[in-house]
Amino acid sequence: TPGGNVKVVVRVRDFLPRERDRGAQCLIEMNPDTQSTTLLVPTSSDPANSKTQSRKIVEEKNFNFDHSFWSHCKGDEHYATQEHVYNSLGEEFLDHNFEGYHTCIFAYGQTGSGKSYTMMGSPDNPGLIPRTCEDLFQRIEANESANISYSVRVSYFEVYNEHVRDLFQPRTDPPHYLKIRESPTEGPYVKDLTEMQVKNYSEILKYMRMGDSSRTVASTKMNDTSSRSHAVFTIMLKQIHHDYRTDETTERLARIRLVDLAAAAGRREHQQVTHNPGQSHSGTSRSTSQVRTRKARDIVPYRDSILTWLLKDSLGGNSKTAMIACIAPSDYDETLSTLRYADQAKRIRTKAVVNQDHVS
Ligand code: ADP
Ligand code: MG
Repeated sequence: TPGGNVKVVVRVRDFLPRERDRGAQCLIEMNPDTQSTTLLVPTSSDPANSKTQSRKIVEEKNFNFDHSFWSHCKGDEHYATQEHVYNSLGEEFLDHNFEGYHTCIFAYGQTGSGKSYTMMGSPDNPGLIPRTCEDLFQRIEANESANISYSVRVSYFEVYNEHVRDLFQPRTDPPHYLKIRESPTEGPYVKDLTEMQVKNYSEILKYMRMGDSSRTVASTKMNDTSSRSHAVFTIMLKQIHHDYRTDETTERLARIRLVDLAAAAGRREHQQVTHNPGQSHSGTSRSTSQVRTRKARDIVPYRDSILTWLLKDSLGGNSKTAMIACIAPSDYDETLSTLRYADQAKRIRTKAVVNQDHVS
């Protein structure tokens, strides 16, 4: 059937040294059989109080997701490594790409929850982006033949304060921002964005690192930049099949979008998003379709209108889409807000189609 819901998974990270030092409590439990995630209300740090607080009256909030990745305690039986995350999500999405579908994987969550670790990782523990690139070229090299050829192009941009910046171009002062446009066939796009043709894994990795460092430099110069910048890494995979019997050539085009979102807006900002429209219309006069449209828009995990517009295909349009909700183990309020958002995101439906053309 055409259309499907956004796939939603959650991943909890280990304690950071500073959390361990202050004796932080892990508020997350995951059930590997049901893939459910439970958030526990922190017990009081007042010892007199915590004695009387029975475990039974502690409130628990339970959420069900497509997958719950337990990356909290290395050595645990159910510990989810970077490889696990790739094998259970990245691989399936790359299968879709070879079938000709556009895909998008978002990482969402508060600052320090593990979004960049999950998407990019480190040289020792590569994340979804480098693993997708590696698997992509392994598959290409295994399939290339006289009648199948491939073309891979890559781009990388950042959205910061409603400005789009090309991460493959050197930083300039003043910064050079790109404009966005809409094409009737391809939808919204970034005008003049650098797209590099890449032939192998080491080439794409080189561009990935180059773009990533352009993003990182900024975070040391400007206060808190990294937590407010969205990074969008895009791979365009074109497969060209030539059938010698019929002399027909078909092309399949897949867009692989991998997005490291800016930190989730604070709870107060979320409230503003949902309250403002209600204030400007007086309640009863709104039609149900207006209500529905506004609700769908409210589910989008970012407030920047440029990003909402650029990625509209990925949340509601022609794409198979997954959301990785990243959570820290001991931040009750932020985690509750991330899990509530993730729970809502399960309702977003997309309408993915195979992007195939007969070219001769
Ligand atoms: P974010 O991008 O959401 O702000 P980061 O990915 O930078 O967060 O993660 C914050 C810190 O936690 C980093 O030091 C990172 O290495 C570490 N970290 C995050 N997730 C994991 C994980 N699953 N295992 C080990 N360390 C992690
Ligand atoms: Mg980050």
